[in-house]
Amino acid sequence: MMIDINDGNDRVVFFDVDDTLLDTSTFAQTARKAAIELMVDNGLPLDKDEAYGVLKTIIREKGSNYGKHFNVLTQVVLGHEDPMLVALGMITYHNVKMALLRPFADTIDTLIYLKSQGYRLAVISNGLTIKQWEKLVRLNVYSFFDEVITSEEVGHKKPDKLIFDVALRKMKGDPEKSVMIGNKFREDALGAINAGMSAILVNSDVTEDDRDFIKKEQLNITIVEKIGDVNTIL
Ligand SMILES: [Mg+2]
Repeated sequence: MMIDINDGNDRVVFFDVDDTLLDTSTFAQTARKAAIELMVDNGLPLDKDEAYGVLKTIIREKGSNYGKHFNVLTQVVLGHEDPMLVALGMITYHNVKMALLRPFADTIDTLIYLKSQGYRLAVISNGLTIKQWEKLVRLNVYSFFDEVITSEEVGHKKPDKLIFDVALRKMKGDPEKSVMIGNKFREDALGAINAGMSAILVNSDVTEDDRDFIKKEQLNITIVEKIGDVNTIL
């Protein structure tokens, strides 16, 4: 007979990835600026701030998971795609990103702590499944996580309740004993609350209005400064 080591353990901590486990926004910005600098130095006919502005508009329009931002940039600026400039941009972006990619200082200690408290861990992310596993592998934290549930796989994005329901079912988690940890008030915290879980916000974008709403509705959402503070709650 197979022995299920998770048998009876229905306490799950779900994590968001970007800007929760690692400082995605800062390293992406640095990598994009380095890419633009090299493209301009090699003939993209704009000044660096202008080119960065155009790139940001393209990212906003196409989404950050779109794979051809630099192709579109050369098309918009030159009227045609420039393969050499695209390659320069892409490779610089990837090299700089890889050099900078690391977890927040307290991420690994927090994951070890949660495992020691008997929680099982999983990821719920709006993004591409392989890309999110890739980040966990590069950060060398993949072995902490049993599952990565993404909007790509489920077909619905956070804060849709459905992605949280699928994640809970996959992990055999009891919503009342499970927690979502993320940085976005609406996507991570409200989504989890709608699925019957509690939530912890770290590095969050929460506003004064959001704080008032949490208090008024008595929502089970705790706001802490950084991921290392999670051990004061769980
Ligand atoms: Mg995030």
